[in-house]
Amino acid sequence: MKTIVGESKRYLDINLSDRSWTAFSPPEEDLRDYLGGKGLGLKLIYDRADSGARLAAMDPLGPDNILAFMMGTFVGTGATCSARFAGVTKAPLTGIMVGSSCGGPFGMACKTAGWDGILVRGAAEKPTTLLIDEEGARFEDAGDLWGLGTDEAQRRLVAKPRQGALVIGPAGENGVLYANIRSGNRYLGRGGMGAVMGAKRLKAIVATGQSFRIEPADKASFEKHRDIGRKYINRNAFVLGYRAYGTNYGVEPGIRAGFAPVRNFRDRTDERCRALSGEAMASRYKTRHAPCAPCSVLCGKKGTYPDGAERHIPEYETIGVWGGNILNFDPDLVGIWNDLMNDLGLDTISAGVTVSWAMEAAEKGLRPSGLAFGRTDNIAGILEEIALREGEGAELSLGSKRLAEKYGGMDFAAQVKGLEMAAYDPRAGWGQGLNYAVANRGGCHLNAYPIALEAMFGYIPPYTTLSKASWVAFLEDLFDAVNATQTCQFSIFGYLLEPPIARLTPKPLLKMAMTLLPGAAQLVLDWGALSGQVEAITGRRLSQRDYLKVGRRSHVLERHMNVLMGVGPADDTLPRRFLEEAATKHPDKSVVPLGPMVKAYYRKKGHDGNGVPTAKLLASLGIPAAGRKR
Ligand code: SF4
Repeated sequence: MKTIVGESKRYLDINLSDRSWTAFSPPEEDLRDYLGGKGLGLKLIYDRADSGARLAAMDPLGPDNILAFMMGTFVGTGATCSARFAGVTKAPLTGIMVGSSCGGPFGMACKTAGWDGILVRGAAEKPTTLLIDEEGARFEDAGDLWGLGTDEAQRRLVAKPRQGALVIGPAGENGVLYANIRSGNRYLGRGGMGAVMGAKRLKAIVATGQSFRIEPADKASFEKHRDIGRKYINRNAFVLGYRAYGTNYGVEPGIRAGFAPVRNFRDRTDERCRALSGEAMASRYKTRHAPCAPCSVLCGKKGTYPDGAERHIPEYETIGVWGGNILNFDPDLVGIWNDLMNDLGLDTISAGVTVSWAMEAAEKGLRPSGLAFGRTDNIAGILEEIALREGEGAELSLGSKRLAEKYGGMDFAAQVKGLEMAAYDPRAGWGQGLNYAVANRGGCHLNAYPIALEAMFGYIPPYTTLSKASWVAFLEDLFDAVNATQTCQFSIFGYLLEPPIARLTPKPLLKMAMTLLPGAAQLVLDWGALSGQVEAITGRRLSQRDYLKVGRRSHVLERHMNVLMGVGPADDTLPRRFLEEAATKHPDKSVVPLGPMVKAYYRKKGHDGNGVPTAKLLASLGIPAAGRKR
């Protein structure tokens, strides 16, 4: 087997329109400044779009749109939580940029085939499968795969253990605006990337890897930092909860702290949600680990259902939006619907929140529907209809924002910038409200995830505006550094909270510092075990502050691209429900005091008063005001 030291720097540029491909290397300064993953994907698309006007005019479902699949620094190195890669494109659901991180076998197969990333543009004349190996790309007809669910498509396409596939289901083929892309049992979930692939008539990409082994540039330093990082991850309370119960570990705190979505985000809590908790499912389904590999967190779970079927346990977000949010308290049903959505290729979050919006809209007489809170017998049928864009599903396939524009009910459409919010009611943590409002891709929980610090682990009080702008701005930068590296975001709290400086500080003192002096707290926090691995793999000098700057550059570039596509301050907001409706079932009566936090956030980030990255900020990060034509 041949060896790649750190990164191959080889990328594929695929044109489906004429079935051609070329290999290229990005400029060295882009590799240094963006590392890989999401940030580099954004930069490559930015340069190829060449101007803001072209970026704005680009039809997400047209041949000009570019779909980037980007490996990161960690993939293939044996670093913890490193079986991940990014997808980046202009999203059909929102009309702005979207980046997603995904586990499963594709990332490893692509990187060990010798390719650090793939750009896909154009559109094939007929259904096509793209085959990638160390020699390059080949194109195959996929007529016999078109129409298949993702389960069967993967079964037919992946013949060897060293292969990894990306596939879409009927939802992507039919242009559902929140169709996803699947790799193994993991997903590029948000924004409708599956529809972009479907519009290009690309059913699948299959990479055949293990032609190369990936070695760090400095093996001893890599192993030292990796082992320290692993130690931190292994003793972190957040990680231990996820390892024991999967992401559904969040259900119990959600009921207690009031971030559980209930009745289309009206109630904030319901004791009956307890039947869907990680603890309840561990006992009911005798759950066992089913992680991405390699991984030290081990959040993925599978279990045996009462019908005898072995199923992957749905994630917290799926449980939230298909459980209490539609008044369903039967975990078996969520497991069955989860399998169905995964096979059809639907983003479970957007599908669930669109359906709960339709239930409330019907209740209020805005739009007729057979969907109703607590009614479960017609859900499987409606999911099929959405994927095929038939019957009522044709409208539901457009997402909650477009439906609310047509029928009214925008106040209770739980979305931001067109992307449905995940299962965290922001009234339970005002930082989470700010996170949703300003997140680049819309109602995204993974933009900064402050709810973990606020309502899950109590490092910052949830009902205060103090420090929230600072933490959201800081965590956005750190998370986008992680997205460049492509390690799992779930490992972050281990890296951040378990080094001696945070671990040995008494929690009340740490909490006070994080709330009253967030800038000082961020200065003394230590994520060197993470940035040290990146430095050792690539051989580029990279302090932990340099690493944070990589994330900031990526985040600001994405904001800049979104501004060029028309995003403005009016988009950095929350649905009125979260700003004005305090009366819920939860005893804490709270609404999100958003305005002052957004202004403070703009200042922290270095944007002007309208949330536009200033010329000075762009220059300080080396971001050109327009893309460089490639
Ligand atoms: S923590 Fe979960 S999502 Fe992240 S890499 Fe591990 S198994 Fe995959």
